[in-house]
Amino acid sequence: MKILIKELVGHPQCISFALTPAELELSDETIEFQAPVNITLRVSTLGEKQVMAEGNADTTINTQCVRCLEPLEMLLSAEIHARYEDDKNLLSPESQLLGTEDELLAYFDGESIDPVPQIREALMLELPSLPLCTKDCHGLCPICGANLNNAPCGCAPAPEAPTAPAAPAWKEALKKIKLEE
Ligand SMILES: [Zn+2]
Ligand SMILES: [Zn+2]
Repeated sequence: MKILIKELVGHPQCISFALTPAELELSDETIEFQAPVNITLRVSTLGEKQVMAEGNADTTINTQCVRCLEPLEMLLSAEIHARYEDDKNLLSPESQLLGTEDELLAYFDGESIDPVPQIREALMLELPSLPLCTKDCHGLCPICGANLNNAPCGCAPAPEAPTAPAAPAWKEALKKIKLEE
């Protein structure tokens, strides 16, 4: 995808478009992206050698809860802050790591930009690492595997973590002696 920059010099522009997950090369072992990914970008120039693209990308993902393993549909929304510079150093593979958490940095050939890699990157950064169906999902019973969000399964509850150990007998004995004195 190419956004021509010439006409944008001095005239920032807002553009909206949709891409499929395939066009964005989005894939993850545990997450399925639903089409389309809706994108809004405000593209502006900073002098002749820099282009800014700012906006957001929204889509829906299908994944599963890490505790109860139930299928889960989530909205995924990413903010895009990208800066494109007319600097050949940005073409090296290492430069893909340049930029900061708040701003992605990429090469600008002086004519057009391709925002797809930065949109992809922004979405990948927003993926939940531990998706939960609800904040206090009860998960699965470790004994029978039942989903404890539906109903208690009747298995014996897991033993409670031991509380503070009882005072040893000699301490009790000592107390008594003291009291008697
Ligand atoms: Zn769950
Ligand atoms: Zn059970």
